[in-house]
Amino acid sequence: MITVFEAKRIITMDPSLPEATHIAVKDGKVIGVGPLNELEDLGSFTLDKRFANQYIYPGFVEGHSHALEGAMWSYLYLGYFPRHDPDGKPWQGCQSLEQIQKNLRDYAQQLPAGEPLIAWGFDPVYFEGARLDKKIIDEVVSDRPVVIFHANLHLMTVNSHMLAQTSLHTNSDVEGVMLGTDGLPNGELREMAAMFAVFEALGRSIFEEVASTKTLENYAKAAQRTGITTVTDLYNPLSDTGVEVLKTATAASDYAVRLVPAIAALDWQNNQGIERVFACQKDNTDKLQFGLVKLMTDGSIQGFSARMLWPGYHNGHENGIWNAPPETLKQIVLDYHQAGLQLHIHTNGDEAVELILDAIEEAQTLWYRADHRHTLQHCQFISQAQMRRAAKLGVCLNMFVNHIYYWGDIHRDKTLGYSRSRRMQPLSSALSLNIPVAMHSDAPVTPLGPLFSMWCSIARKTASGQSLGEHESLTIQQALYAVTLGAAYTLHMDDKVGSLEVGKYADMVVLDKDLYDIDSDDLPDLVVQATVLGGQVYANNG
Ligand SMILES: [Zn+2]
Repeated sequence: MITVFEAKRIITMDPSLPEATHIAVKDGKVIGVGPLNELEDLGSFTLDKRFANQYIYPGFVEGHSHALEGAMWSYLYLGYFPRHDPDGKPWQGCQSLEQIQKNLRDYAQQLPAGEPLIAWGFDPVYFEGARLDKKIIDEVVSDRPVVIFHANLHLMTVNSHMLAQTSLHTNSDVEGVMLGTDGLPNGELREMAAMFAVFEALGRSIFEEVASTKTLENYAKAAQRTGITTVTDLYNPLSDTGVEVLKTATAASDYAVRLVPAIAALDWQNNQGIERVFACQKDNTDKLQFGLVKLMTDGSIQGFSARMLWPGYHNGHENGIWNAPPETLKQIVLDYHQAGLQLHIHTNGDEAVELILDAIEEAQTLWYRADHRHTLQHCQFISQAQMRRAAKLGVCLNMFVNHIYYWGDIHRDKTLGYSRSRRMQPLSSALSLNIPVAMHSDAPVTPLGPLFSMWCSIARKTASGQSLGEHESLTIQQALYAVTLGAAYTLHMDDKVGSLEVGKYADMVVLDKDLYDIDSDDLPDLVVQATVLGGQVYANNG
């Protein structure tokens, strides 16, 4: 059975047939693109005119976000910016520590006695003066453990009740445990080693909540609402239960996205992690694709935990921290590369970029692989020389472009200063060097939304309206590439998704505006009318 969708204009991202008015779908795949009369010889078909007055694009591909987005909304949102949950419900932001204290107090009153209070989205960089610590939380909630995840998920602040349950009091030389003027832990914990002590005490890690059907359903809903048809979960423990849940959730006939999980390499011994990925790959389906590996190296620039080369942080802050010793990180790259797997590597600061480029170069020298497509994730700060190396090594770059809006002012004033802040997320330079690029939201760090990311890459405006690096600004065509075919390429899925061509999945996003005919400042406000996944329509009501 063939269905032909009609639209005002279909943009395909296929250079040989860049636009059309009709697209024919059979068995979930594109079987024809063109004017209606040219599709008639495909055989009998049903003409679906529901999008006749709208515009169709390839479904968006989100190359770096986390299924945690589907779990976070069970907890208290303490972010600075207003935001929507997976059901589209708006949440207010918190613009002062007093507001945060009030929300914590109110929320604690609704929880059963003794139940830990977990909150997320807090971002210290927006708060001048006093830094959130255990005392500020203790003032409002002291009778139960409180854990506040920072927006970047690399840091948390906990209250005294929580600290007392961990081993950190007696073991404060764990890296990342911040101390107050009294020499005792002040409640702030940085990076995985320190945060692990809290998970151990609570008997659960929020990062493991991706192993829940509900989380994966919410995640698909949130992605679909923003026009995404292929989404990653770029840090999955791939536990036994987790893998089963991934299989069950995505097997549902109405699961609205294709899901691509990446194994969290630091959770496994290298040889066991490699075996795990290969074993999982046997269960790949149309909607679930294993194979990616995720490696964390440094932290975040705005959290001052990213590793920076000379001259370091603009405000003189000491250098950041590694998530594992550099030699261990290099060995992980070597081992997974040799095994033939594709690595997605979190690198924020230029020192982390340097380490990983060295590692990939060494791996390619020892065991050359054509088309490995190892991808640097975020690469917020990468020099022109490093990009030339990346180009030569066949490395892809998936840039965290939303940063320009959310943290651009901080980078301009505190972390990088004027000159270096101009070349954050240097997307235009990367494209000039023919590097395959993508851009992402890193949800739940910032909200899912490829249209918003496209706007960031074109406008390069901070939250206060400053322009940050207009020389790196993309055109609408380049921006659309980065959230469709570019992202698909970094996932090694450009033969299946990312453009509308015969033989590829019929994955589309439907908008009521022509992207090439609007003011690019209107991009973030466009409403996704529907997505189509393998020919199946998912309509939005808003
Ligand atoms: Zn991430």
